[in-house]
Amino acid sequence: MIRISKQAYREMIAYCIQQQPHEACGFLSGYRGDSSVSDRIDRFIPVSNRSPRPENHFDMDPREVVSVLYQLETSGAILLGIAHSHPQAPPVPSGEDLLTAWHRTATHWIVSLQGSVPLAKVYRYAALDDGTVAWSGIPMIVED
Ligand SMILES: [Zn+2]
Repeated sequence: MIRISKQAYREMIAYCIQQQPHEACGFLSGYRGDSSVSDRIDRFIPVSNRSPRPENHFDMDPREVVSVLYQLETSGAILLGIAHSHPQAPPVPSGEDLLTAWHRTATHWIVSLQGSVPLAKVYRYAALDDGTVAWSGIPMIVED
């Protein structure tokens, strides 16, 4: 289970729509929960997609990545998720998505703009000993 503020959720969806027909990407940050309450995301931070084929790939600008991670480090917030959009595909991780170096990031969000209404799904990725990557869905709650 992961919680996200309505504002962060809306900003993520709006940015994905704005970046069409390109894939959008960014980070989600917030605060860790404990045994009684789930992690809570309260901020979406867009990052430029510098892929030469941005219609169906994303590659986060490394300078912006360093800058964002530094800001989080100094503010006490924690990186809780990575988000990207699928302008023309369902919200399911692609083979390329699973090649990410960010396996340990708590959650991976995919916003599909394929249908008439944006659809966001959340996943956890896990690198297995045999070199493949497993993924599973995580329930998500949008709250005030
Ligand atoms: Zn993808």
